Parts: sequence; structure tokens; C-alpha cells
Amino acid sequence: MKKRASIVAASLGIALISSQTTLADTQSKPNGPYVEVEQNLSLSSVMTNEELEKKLQKIEESSQGKMQLDVAGYSNEGTPLYLAKYGENEPEKKRVLIYTQIHGNEVLGTEAAMEMMQKFNSGDKDIDEMLEEVSVWIMPRLNPDGTMTQIEGDWNPVRYNHQTWNPEEYDLPAETEAPWYYTLGYEREQATNERFYYGIPGYDLNRDFSPNYNFDINEVDKEKLAEVLNDESKNNRYNTGYVVSPEAKAITNVVKEFNPDVAIDVHHRGFNYLSEEDNRSVAISVLGMFTTQPYTDPFTGEKYEIEEDVEKLSKQITVAGYQSLQRGFSSFGAIQQYPQVNYPGSGLGAIQLNGTATMLIEVKGQTQTLGQKQNGMLKQTVKTPIYDILSKLADGSIEDVDANLYDEIPPAHGWMGDPSTRY
Ligand SMILES: [Zn+2]
Repeated sequence: MKKRASIVAASLGIALISSQTTLADTQSKPNGPYVEVEQNLSLSSVMTNEELEKKLQKIEESSQGKMQLDVAGYSNEGTPLYLAKYGENEPEKKRVLIYTQIHGNEVLGTEAAMEMMQKFNSGDKDIDEMLEEVSVWIMPRLNPDGTMTQIEGDWNPVRYNHQTWNPEEYDLPAETEAPWYYTLGYEREQATNERFYYGIPGYDLNRDFSPNYNFDINEVDKEKLAEVLNDESKNNRYNTGYVVSPEAKAITNVVKEFNPDVAIDVHHRGFNYLSEEDNRSVAISVLGMFTTQPYTDPFTGEKYEIEEDVEKLSKQITVAGYQSLQRGFSSFGAIQQYPQVNYPGSGLGAIQLNGTATMLIEVKGQTQTLGQKQNGMLKQTVKTPIYDILSKLADGSIEDVDANLYDEIPPAHGWMGDPSTRY
């Protein structure tokens, strides 16, 4: 296996040239740095699945019993989906679930999560006290198959998992439409909006959730299922996923068991600049709300709605995360809201409709666009808000955070990337 990702050479060249053209069009003084055309993109710091596994086992060993490493399930190609548990599932403790890399090409959250675990192990008194109050369960790299995708002999992580839609597997007529988030192996290039074909079918795992945690595609009424799948007004982004992937199933099982107070999901997106007055490159985008209206499950008729206290805590943690990075006029503080979505079939969408407060962190740049530039700084912009949220949950001061400040986080603006790679 090659560790250096040369990416699909031709499309990379196009992507970078166009992204610079876009920058020139949208702002006079782009404040990168961005990967230059002649620079060699390298994923040499990115862990393979085997390296991730070894590292997790080492962290467990060195944790002196603080962390228990479990396998929550297996990817469609049989790779373990790890669950690192700091603390038991105790009702008297606050419970936080952090998961990363549900999109295989969004690697930085996983790297940040590993560093967080090392910090949890450090013996730092404040951290130890925090962990006495808060149980933190971490699922790093939820899409290991997409992460390790090989294209023409090179390592090229993609968004989707590796899984083929086969309706007959579910006793459905052969011509039944696939879930709308299925691809035959096309991925969009960052910045160019052009698709490249790599030919490995799969699902966007972050659309494969159902607010009905007990939804089982094998148990549901088949006629109804075929009707929903074949109806474009129902089989779309504003409705449920079908939990066809073992990865989405594994996460669902963990949230069912753990019933976290807070869930945080880490992604990458394209590039944005902060505002017309402030052209700092946005380091992270954040979002606390994942649906905008009540949702009725097409199979059970059950209605789901975000509860008031869940909305409040979601906004409080998002505000706390935002504030933790405001350190004067630095690139750390260039944070804005992620565009409002209405996705009951996304991971956080389904989780929030079940009574857990949620926060999305979107780090700038896609792995194949940014390479390793700014990795240290960007990991910090993931870890700092999460530590702050954990410590505020531990000492109860999260209650003092004004949820109304959520609306004052600068709105989504100045997008310079590919919309399909977001969230
Ligand atoms: Zn993503």
C-alpha cells in the first residue's frame, strides 16, 4: 500500500487551478496558505486503519484503566469500528459522544480525537477531575473503507463507504430505486464542482440514519418501503435514511445504549472567508440545530421534534465552543455558522430528535485539497472547543452560557468551495 497520495493527478491540477481562480474572483486578498499547484500533496501523516488500531490499543494500554477500547461494529468490508470509552455509562454522570470521519476524506477530526485521548491519559489533575464528572465515548473514523480507498494504485480517501445497493437483498423488486444518498462511485472535486468517477459504489453514511432508532430495513413492510424509495418526494435529503450501512447501524446502537447528553461530530468542508469586512479564512464552521421542522416517520407515523431543553443545550455548547476560540484577531477566532440544514436522516439530525444536544464542527478544507498544511492549528480548533464544552459540562457552568448568543455567531458567508463536500 502506498502511503503517499498523489490523488488523481489530472483532476487535482484542475481543482487547484480553478480554486485559485475562484479566490481571485471572490476576494482581493485571500489569506491562505493554500496548496500550490506545484506542491506535492502528501497524506504521509494520516494513519492507515492498521495504524489507527495499533495506536488505539497503545492508548488503551497507557491509560491505566481509564479507557476501555471496544468494537462497536464492523464496516461493510469488515474493518472494526472502534469505540474508546472514557467512563462508564452511568446515569449520574454527564455523557458525551464524539465521533469523527463518517466521511472518509475528512481525516483531521480523527487525528484530533487521538490527541484528545492522549491528553485524557496525561494524568493532568483538571482532566482527571473532569473525567470523574463526564463519561466521554469516542468513535474515531467511522468510515474506514472510504478512508482507505485506492484509486489507480494510489491512496485517495473518499466521502462514501463501500457498499452496493441490491434491492433483492431486502426482498424488494429489482428495479427499486436506491436511497438518494447512494453513489455508483462518483465524487465531486473540491472547488471545481466537477465529478470524477472511481467506480466503487457506496453510501453517504451521514444521510443513512433514522430518527426511529429501532428502524430495521429487514423488518419494515416491503410494499411501503418500495413505495417510499420510488417516490422522489419522500426519498430525498429532507427525509429519513434507511440504515442500510453497518456503519450507521453501529453508531445508532451506541447512541441507543449510551443515550448521551451531548453528541459532537467532526467534519471538513470547503473554504470560506469570514465577511465582506474581514477576509480571514474561516477555520471552523459550527452548527447546533439539524432540523428546522417536526419530522413524521413515513413508516410508523411517529412525530419527532427537537425538545426545548435540547435546543437550549445545543445552542449553549455551540456558543461555548465558539467563545473558546475567540482570542483576538487570529485565525483561531475566524468561525462562522454552518448553513442551516434540515436533515432528519443525518447522524446529528436523528440524534438530536431523540433528545441529545448536538454540535457539528466543520474544519476548513478537504484532505485532498489542504494536504497537511495548518494541521496543528486546525486540530487545535477542534480540541479547544471540545475541552471547553467538557469542562463546562463537568462543573455545571454550561448552564451560565447564554443560548441566545447562538444567533450572534457570524452567519455562513463567503463560500469558496464545493457544496457537495460539505457536512
Ligand atoms: Zn463531512
